[in-house]
Amino acid sequence: LGSGSSGNAMVVETREGRLLVDAGFGIRELERRLRAVGVSPSALDAVLLTHEHGDHCRAARRLAQRYRLPVYASAGTLFGAGLRGLERAIEIRPGQAFELLGLLCEPVLLPHDAHQPVGVVLEDRSGRRLGLIADCGRLAEPAWSRFLDLETLVVEANHDLEMLRTGPYPWALKRRVAGPLGHLSNREAADGVASLAGDRLRQVVLYHLSRTNNLPALARAALSEELVRVGCHAQLVLTEQHATTAWLQVDPELTRPGGT
Ligand SMILES: [Zn+2]
Ligand SMILES: [Zn+2]
Repeated sequence: LGSGSSGNAMVVETREGRLLVDAGFGIRELERRLRAVGVSPSALDAVLLTHEHGDHCRAARRLAQRYRLPVYASAGTLFGAGLRGLERAIEIRPGQAFELLGLLCEPVLLPHDAHQPVGVVLEDRSGRRLGLIADCGRLAEPAWSRFLDLETLVVEANHDLEMLRTGPYPWALKRRVAGPLGHLSNREAADGVASLAGDRLRQVVLYHLSRTNNLPALARAALSEELVRVGCHAQLVLTEQHATTAWLQVDPELTRPGGT
């Protein structure tokens, strides 16, 4: 639905329902964006939050109340977002997969300066896998290898290191963004994607680009160079802050034998 430093949200649709991953816009804006991609807000079935920062959970409470939605989040995120008292708050645990709307969801603890931030791997009944690495400070094991064998990887490519270094952010903020609990640079994202790029990877979606410290062309160049280097033919898709992205299908052809 849009991604960047001032708001992030993504819809995952399965045969069994629609999951909103993060709700980082104001509620009206979020509703508008949902409708723009053909989803009535009342057709959502659940919300999953990666962490409590405003650009990921701004509308979570109001949306959950207005549409009576369950909100899945780690204990730290529920606490940080002030959502513990919410009627349908459901605590999820990093490393413990659970089922939701026909998807096996595995929350993966990521390094970022929030209480208990997670990325997530979603696997459908045919074994098709989508991974989301939103805000993430660095490529760290054991988290990183949880994102192996995906068809679609959504990954933060926050900043170009040189633009961040010479840009207008105050020094302390620059240090935070580039630090181990901050955000992934284009370079880090490229290295990370290269290490995850296997035969199955069909789509790499670049998420959370900074408007101040990055340019789509730089992010694209860094990632595509690396994909070429490792011989991966995945399609590169860039998300935008001010516009929704067209629906992507998690590889319809690649249903593995034995899948249902
Ligand atoms: Zn964050
Ligand atoms: Zn963020």
